[in-house]
Amino acid sequence: MHALVLGAGIVGVSAAWFLREAGVEVTVVEARDGPGLETSFANGGHISVASGPWAAPDVPGKLLRWIGREDAPLLLRPFRWDPALWRWGVRFLANCTPRAFAANAAAIGELCRFSAAETARLRARLAIDDQNSTAGTLTLLTTPAEMAAAEAKARRLSEAGFAAELLDRSGIASAEPALAEAASRYAGALFAKEGETGDAHRFTAGLAHAAAALGVTFRYGTRVARLAVARGAATGVVLETGETIAADQVVLAAGPWSVQLAATAGLALPVYPGKGYSATVPIAGRNGAPRLAVVDEHAKIYVARFGERLRAAGTLELAGWDKTPSPVRAAATLGALRRLFPEGGDYARAEHWTGLRPMSPDGRPLIGPTRVRNLWLDTGHGPLGWTMGAGSGRLIAALMTGAAPPLDPAPYAPGRFRWLEPRESLR
Ligand SMILES: Cc1cc2nc3c(=O)[nH]c(=O)nc-3n(C[C@H](O)[C@H](O)[C@H](O)COP(=O)(O)OP(=O)(O)OC[C@H]3O[C@@H](n4cnc5c(N)ncnc54)[C@H](O)[C@@H]3O)c2cc1C
Repeated sequence: MHALVLGAGIVGVSAAWFLREAGVEVTVVEARDGPGLETSFANGGHISVASGPWAAPDVPGKLLRWIGREDAPLLLRPFRWDPALWRWGVRFLANCTPRAFAANAAAIGELCRFSAAETARLRARLAIDDQNSTAGTLTLLTTPAEMAAAEAKARRLSEAGFAAELLDRSGIASAEPALAEAASRYAGALFAKEGETGDAHRFTAGLAHAAAALGVTFRYGTRVARLAVARGAATGVVLETGETIAADQVVLAAGPWSVQLAATAGLALPVYPGKGYSATVPIAGRNGAPRLAVVDEHAKIYVARFGERLRAAGTLELAGWDKTPSPVRAAATLGALRRLFPEGGDYARAEHWTGLRPMSPDGRPLIGPTRVRNLWLDTGHGPLGWTMGAGSGRLIAALMTGAAPPLDPAPYAPGRFRWLEPRESLR
């Protein structure tokens, strides 16, 4: 079997690795000049084992309050005329009920925990240096509602066998001395002992290197123009150069751009790009950088330390495909980092970045077959693609090769959106 994997982000490279390990001939086609250069490049780096989806019961109210605030943690530019955004938005809001939130959080948590273990296994086995830290994660809480939600999260963590502790204000600086100055602005914090971080780009590059050594062919600098489909089945891809690459199976792992490629096969993916920002500063010469990973729950900012670099990432802007940064939002991201850790790094040398998360409306990725035979989806990982990448790769490889799936694939099946459902009689 020859499988084509479209996209060499963390998701596509993981799929390629596990397919090759299962004995499949694999070619990865990637538009950029190397692996992990799009959304998997300068993300937050948090490997989150108990995160819920963005679609949560308190979000509709927050969205209304934040409209028109350029630096809002979640910004919907509502007057944009983009029918795809409106269709996606209606489905997103339908997932904000307490019941949908609980079901989605459970499904996401399951895959996150499985995937974090797979990531750790690959890191150790392949000696990938992604500047992984297992010091733990401190989530800073501002409002009583956040404290209540953190209690629920602590319960989810302990049910899953992870240690989590709620701290009051005075406990913040004891847990992370670098927060001594900022601690008074918060009501408390949740400390998750098993919280982990790592540089997704370094990991993706390391795994791609190992996959190439195992026999995966990588074609970088190669942009796919469309999927080739004949009689309801994918037969390969047509490149922008006009060249055709034939394959028995095609895996669409092109992050948010999977939407455009799926459309060439007549599939409308319920995925929308969610722009996020990051700012990275060098630590050299400073002594105020944190040891722990830190989350500011109110500002939706995720801070991680990668060796001698400190990064803040986060916020969500639903405003189409343009990656151009809003200067206000970029400054707000850096400002949030600086307020937390005034002596944390050299802020004059900050590197700014934006990326587009492939957001599904329910927060669950789309992993599995579609109604186009031999076309598989592995996308829609939204704000948790680094965490879920390795596990998703193992799951899609098992589904494609007929091996026993390592976890129940039903919650992630693309067919939960009925127009993507495979026509069983044809498969
Ligand atoms: C600001 C920010 C912070 C984040 N923080 C975290 C975090 O802390 N923890 C976490 O778990 N996740 C985080 N994420 C989410 C995570 O980064 C993404 O979910 C993940 O990177 C998606 O990986 P991917 O492989 O699906 O997409 P990508 O990494 O974007 O890979 C898709 C690839 O497809 C290629 N491609 C696209 N179109 C074509 C084409 N036509 N032909 C050929 N190739 C093509 C692209 O060049 C790209 O390399 C964050 C995201 C952002 C934006």
